[in-house]
Amino acid sequence: MRAAVLYGAGDVRLENVPDARLIEPTDALVTVSRACICGSDLWPYKLMKPGEPPRRMGHEAIGVVEAVGSGVHTLKVGDVVVMPFAYSDGTCVFCHEGLHTSCVHGGFFGTVELPGAQAEALRIPLADGTLFVLPVGEDHALMPSLLTLSDVMGTGHHAARAAKVSRGKTVAVIGDGAVGLCAVIAARRLGAEQIIMMGHHPDRIALAKEFGATDVVKERGEEAFQRVRALTGGLGVHSVLECVGTEEAMRTAIGIARAGGAIGRVGVPHYEAIPASEPAFYNNLTIGGGPAPVRAYIQELLPDVLEGKIEPGRVFDRVIGLDEVPDGYRAMNEREAIKVMVKP
Ligand SMILES: [Zn+2]
Repeated sequence: MRAAVLYGAGDVRLENVPDARLIEPTDALVTVSRACICGSDLWPYKLMKPGEPPRRMGHEAIGVVEAVGSGVHTLKVGDVVVMPFAYSDGTCVFCHEGLHTSCVHGGFFGTVELPGAQAEALRIPLADGTLFVLPVGEDHALMPSLLTLSDVMGTGHHAARAAKVSRGKTVAVIGDGAVGLCAVIAARRLGAEQIIMMGHHPDRIALAKEFGATDVVKERGEEAFQRVRALTGGLGVHSVLECVGTEEAMRTAIGIARAGGAIGRVGVPHYEAIPASEPAFYNNLTIGGGPAPVRAYIQELLPDVLEGKIEPGRVFDRVIGLDEVPDGYRAMNEREAIKVMVKP
């Protein structure tokens, strides 16, 4: 079968690899109907160092169950399933607490340890706990939005939860990638009154406004702090959804949060220590977040997707085949595309 393999910075290739197959009795084998390229795939795409082992990329997919091991009980061949970016047993103490990304038996797709979803097929460990069966056919019109339940919509929702968004709150979203845009959807869905999008790409801002952003701040640094304060009666926002992962983004988040406010960070941090610790302390800020337990959120978000109340699938602005995956990475890295869907 064919799969995308990352060999080094800027070097992702489509290759023939051994067919995915069942290994453990708790595995399922899934044929990939749709996968994606993620903003977080761009970190290794940009930063992979010489000597690091090759990686089979991709951690978001919808597919069809082709085979199940003898220990799989809730899935059957032919089920259309969404795959969260992390696998989990669904039974441990953390899974019961809804924190599936900390599952004691879990792990992540698209790593050196476990091949990813930018491929024709993949092996799903702990399939009963990991996969979510969708109540739709393989070619349903809502597939793009359903596919976002694999990562970006759940991750945007997690940012909003970690930042304690609720009815009537003021919110700022840092990051105009697919997660940032989904974070706007999530903030609105949870009842935020004011949603300030921090970004400057016209097409992304336009989409953010359609998703519910009420204001846009294009400035950066100290100017951004002042603009956000000007928009919030001098106070700053209750909730900051940090969807980038750079030190600058965290510094901005702390700079624009209102005293007593909360920051939900879901961008993978590429800095050693959280900056601006003194203002964060004096303003009594809560800094939370981490890898989103999207498996826990599918149940909550799915009805809104099926009823068309939210349309996160609109973040996809390019659809490619597996052969075009290298160009898909390039396009996302150059911010030519917001999010790329892959149809193997
Ligand atoms: Zn678990």
